[in-house]
Amino acid sequence: MQITAAVVRERSGAFQIERLDLCDPRADELLVEVVACGMCATDLHGRDGYYSTPYPAVFGHEGAGIVRAVGNAVTKFKPGDHVVMSYPWCGTCPNCRTDRQSYCLHSFDLKMSGRRADGSTLHAKDRAPVYSAFFQQSSFGNYAIANELFAVKVRNDAPLEILGPLACGGQTGTGAVLNVMKPKPGDSFAVFGIGAVGLSGLMAAKIAGCDPIIAVDVHEHRLALAREFGATHTINHSGRTDVVAEIRKLTGLGLRFSLETSALPSVFREAVEALMPAGTCVLLGSARAGTEVSFETPFLQNGRTVRGVIQGDSVPQQFIPQLVDHIVAGRFPLERMMTFYDLADINRAAAESSAGQTIKPVLRMPH
Ligand SMILES: [Zn+2]
Ligand SMILES: [Zn+2]
Repeated sequence: MQITAAVVRERSGAFQIERLDLCDPRADELLVEVVACGMCATDLHGRDGYYSTPYPAVFGHEGAGIVRAVGNAVTKFKPGDHVVMSYPWCGTCPNCRTDRQSYCLHSFDLKMSGRRADGSTLHAKDRAPVYSAFFQQSSFGNYAIANELFAVKVRNDAPLEILGPLACGGQTGTGAVLNVMKPKPGDSFAVFGIGAVGLSGLMAAKIAGCDPIIAVDVHEHRLALAREFGATHTINHSGRTDVVAEIRKLTGLGLRFSLETSALPSVFREAVEALMPAGTCVLLGSARAGTEVSFETPFLQNGRTVRGVIQGDSVPQQFIPQLVDHIVAGRFPLERMMTFYDLADINRAAAESSAGQTIKPVLRMPH
């Protein structure tokens, strides 16, 4: 079928809105009419050639939509189902076999190769391949093909247009708190970096009953948003070196939990140094290869944990429906961090996101 999608034709090139041919779904695949798709930094890194995805390419990995057709071996979905498309995994490696699929040993190729696992492509223009299958979905288009393994059915009464970002940034931030930290009411919590992931973590800390909830960032407007989302205290990091002392003043002993989303080594170190004995720091910020950070050995030895987390350790089919319930119940006001754009304005969305004007751009697809 013919679809409309945003295509990047060369490294760091602009997104171009084009008509493309999309193949039919295979036996284990779904054809999804994409309603909206979040944009995350990974899409822009893909555009800019960080992952060697071949060009021309279609990105987009936070898609939400409605199933329009299913392959003949699909049993869990039917046309009309509302779905969020989440990250891919192989299902057979040692991590996938033990419910650690966010650390699938084949995840990089499945996300970034621009092809299905068997090497085939899904999109074409004038019979020439267009590389897609980005995170096995490529949702910057009005239709996408998703494997049933990576699609998550969501309740039909939830606002579908805001659910796509749960597939990556939303479950990353909330999962780091609810699946990894598992805080108890009254546990102290701080988040370093107030973007979409940091705000998601902050909302989860509020749902878990953390107190105090401290937000650290360099932008006053982001700290104001953090207060709206439930931060009890905010610290503006710009021009000051006493953030750890400030946190110790607020908490007495230091933090039970800290969440690092900035990807800056100096901030990561602060997120660890602000921990109380037996406290835990979860690292979400993704720095370039080669980035190092150091900690004092005796400090860590005192029961402190530092852990990296991908996709919130979540099993999306179980976790995303729980997040949707929180949204419907009004506990997770995800839409307040979003700015909506038509797909035709995708380059403006990308520029405003890179400039920090927009926290979470969401693209509405043409139909
Ligand atoms: Zn795997
Ligand atoms: Zn992402």
